[in-house]
Amino acid sequence: MEINKERDIKSMTLPELKQSLAHLTVDGKPIPAYRAGQLCHWLHVSMIRSFDECTNIPKDLRSVLGENYDLVTLREIDRQISRIDGTQKFLFALPDNNLVESVFMRYKFGNSVCVSSQVGCRMGCRFCASTLNGWERNLTPSEILDQVYAISRATGESISHVVIMGTGEPLDNYRNVIRFIRLLTDENGRNLSQRSVTLSTCGIVPRIYDLSREGLEITLAISLHATTDEKRRKIMPVAEKYTIAELMQAARAYYTATGRQVTFEYSLIRDVNDSEKDARELAALAHPIRAHVNLIPVNPVAERGFKEPTNEAARSFAGKLEKSGIHVTIRREMGRDIDGACGQLRRRHLSSGDSGLSSS
Ligand code: SAH
Repeated sequence: MEINKERDIKSMTLPELKQSLAHLTVDGKPIPAYRAGQLCHWLHVSMIRSFDECTNIPKDLRSVLGENYDLVTLREIDRQISRIDGTQKFLFALPDNNLVESVFMRYKFGNSVCVSSQVGCRMGCRFCASTLNGWERNLTPSEILDQVYAISRATGESISHVVIMGTGEPLDNYRNVIRFIRLLTDENGRNLSQRSVTLSTCGIVPRIYDLSREGLEITLAISLHATTDEKRRKIMPVAEKYTIAELMQAARAYYTATGRQVTFEYSLIRDVNDSEKDARELAALAHPIRAHVNLIPVNPVAERGFKEPTNEAARSFAGKLEKSGIHVTIRREMGRDIDGACGQLRRRHLSSGDSGLSSS
């Protein structure tokens, strides 16, 4: 089933919902305006899966809602639970039966969900599994939101943090991702703090400038992975379009406009970008805008052939950055015992031909 914007109630803000309801009638009578607020609460706070759950809304209005709107809810197809740290990887079916992955992680500071923003990806980063099958389509705001809601429902846990770091390039689905962030942090909905949302991009420079003008307080993470244009072009096709100098200027603009410390993500790949020279150059890029550096030992993807550095090499790389005064963390690998890198759970299902959808 394709998602029609006019019917996609979960992608609507409260004012839009009010406006949309104003065009409808129940038994020839208009729908009172306060119903929009009630409905918004059911959709985003109670996270309903059917209009029948709206117990304070009369039955005849519920059936009008059912006729006029689609309630986008994702179906859980598979779930892997890590025995090591409780990380849970979900594989969801979208209304059109495409598959996406999302991850639930427990941290000391709260529970975090990593969401996908596209079915597949067209950025082509050489080390990434999400891009191997190419790009299929953009997700709607409701499809991104329901990854958070479905996980909250399935685990019974509240979610305090959301990272847009799953499959897809969020700035390549700009409008829907911004709307998703606004809905997620809307005081009429889950009211998540904007500061608890992180958007990770491979570096689409013009969209970073756009983002800096949205008035959002989210954390921007930039996938840097190399310190020279020549090396970056070898692993990230997006580097053919934008130079590191241009990317750094955009990062500075974001930092200046929002006051939010920018994160540089840097996947450490053995013998590719883990030398002392790389560390020096990375420090020189991070220093002027006081960026935080998050080192990710590369997660080997069978089709890619990149190797992760040894623990000592990663620690020594981090040590060199710290010595230069850079705030650096090494990303703790979550759920090591379950299908590793982003996109691998979905790939396993796609390649086995088992879409898990026979029950639909
Ligand atoms: N498209 C966005 C978000 C998706 S990936 C982006 O590029 O930022 C989230 C992060 O994981 C990115 O930094 C990405 O480069 C990194 N990543 C992807 N595959 C990886 C792998 N196999 N090992 C380590 N990091 C990987």
